[in-house]
Amino acid sequence: MTQEPEFVVAVDWGGTWNRVNVVDSNGTVHWENRVANSLSRTTEELLANGERVMREALDWCGDRPVAGIGLAMAGPIDPETGIMDRPPNLMLLDGVSLKALWEPVFGLPVWVGNDADLAALGEYYFGAGRANPEGSDAASREEAVLPRTLVYLTISTGVGGGVVYRGQVFLGASGMAAEVGHMAIESGPDGPLCQCGSRGCLESLASGTAIARMAREKLAEADGTASILARGRPEDVTSGHVFQAATQSDPLALGIIDRLVAVLGVGLTNVLHLYNPDVLVLGGGVSEGIQDLDLMPRIHSLILERAMSGRHREFRFELSRLEGSGGMLGAAMLVWLNTSLA
Ligand SMILES: [Zn+2]
Repeated sequence: MTQEPEFVVAVDWGGTWNRVNVVDSNGTVHWENRVANSLSRTTEELLANGERVMREALDWCGDRPVAGIGLAMAGPIDPETGIMDRPPNLMLLDGVSLKALWEPVFGLPVWVGNDADLAALGEYYFGAGRANPEGSDAASREEAVLPRTLVYLTISTGVGGGVVYRGQVFLGASGMAAEVGHMAIESGPDGPLCQCGSRGCLESLASGTAIARMAREKLAEADGTASILARGRPEDVTSGHVFQAATQSDPLALGIIDRLVAVLGVGLTNVLHLYNPDVLVLGGGVSEGIQDLDLMPRIHSLILERAMSGRHREFRFELSRLEGSGGMLGAAMLVWLNTSLA
């Protein structure tokens, strides 16, 4: 008799850490470890360090059957071949396919995806997607009434996103769909330059990097010296400082927060019109500031004002429930979905 798989090995490979977990089909984490990417100077070292911690995970599983390996990777990735395409924070893996490399090494199926896409998948099955409209969460994935379309935005150093449609990540033709951070909001010559080369993208106006940049710009103006933020060096100001100053009613910080709310009102209405989600989720470091300042109701009402129809207004607007584990749980779910389809 063949045993049903009990676990998957799920990996969240970000710019700083490579985190490895052993996860069951209900999203419960049974084992975890991580390795710092800074320990590796070459692609070979990076891969060897990654392989070592994966081996530890599989050793922990022992004789208990493992369905496969799922990897959430920071950067563009071909979902079919698993080849990384110039990931800005993991350049040592440019052109590498962990799927091709590791399937023969571990003798297990390997599935890969972009971390924002998989964070959306994790949120769909294990986070905000699982909550029922009355507010209480379903006890298990099987009991949950899942959304039809969930859109997830991560707002941190940059702005990324993922769309899950009826339980599957919406990938587009080559895995590059849902680049919500690069929708134009202020595309005129005065719009801030985005790292993608365009002007006025959502990322250049709402990311943590953008919030810090706007604070520095305002501090350089004549009335900036009265701000709490002027007490430190302008180059050290972070988005966290801006949120902190806003809780103390600092006018300069509040001005930046007002702009953030307005920009998100426009950008998220665009998202609503494009994807018609029934659940819209915000995650990432900036969303913690949004929570601390209780900005969700303000952003929500701006979206409702701008939405073009009543049907577009019928969505749940939520903060992430998964506190940075979304990509990991999405990577696990990618394996379970592909296993059950096999
Ligand atoms: Zn851009």
